[in-house]
Amino acid sequence: MKIICIGRNYIEHANELNNPLPENPVFFLKPETALIRAGLPFFYPDFSENVHYEVELVVRIKRLGKHIQEKYSHKYYDEIGVGIDFTARDIQEKCKKNGLPWEIAKSFDSSAPVSGFINKNEFDDVNDISFSLEKNDKTVQKGNSGMMIFSIDKIISYISGFITLKIGDLIFTGTPAGVGSINKEDKLTAFIENRKMLELHVK
Ligand code: MG
Repeated sequence: MKIICIGRNYIEHANELNNPLPENPVFFLKPETALIRAGLPFFYPDFSENVHYEVELVVRIKRLGKHIQEKYSHKYYDEIGVGIDFTARDIQEKCKKNGLPWEIAKSFDSSAPVSGFINKNEFDDVNDISFSLEKNDKTVQKGNSGMMIFSIDKIISYISGFITLKIGDLIFTGTPAGVGSINKEDKLTAFIENRKMLELHVK
């Protein structure tokens, strides 16, 4: 399986990092080794001094697909969870400045903890799902899928024009505003609506 992450999908987040708004979805990949097994902590990597959390809705692909038309995208996923796109922001800034790819800032081990999943039929509207992140029991990020620049259907269609989607692939759909640093001993808790989905300790 692979993990595909959308960048700059919320206007206020693009603004907070001084990024231009994209005309098409921007995406990058993380390897399977970026997942964290349930219950395990996130170990702060020694190569960065500024790791950021980015809470994101995560879509799980359920059917093999390539060149998926947007109107059929809904047939290719039926589960939604939440994840954290950990980012070594100091390294990413260097990469961006030098026009280099972001992988060392984005794709390192344990950089993609993901919650369990909820069937999309449990939501009235997949384009109106609220989610949030608490750091040490204080809310630091709040988002809603309705605020995405590119909808889930658009993202699936776009990605599949370049990369075949396979069963079990995960798509991180972008983070809302409010990203920030983590430190050792922090506790991160992610919610969809009012449901606690993921709790992670930083060690
Ligand atoms: Mg992200």
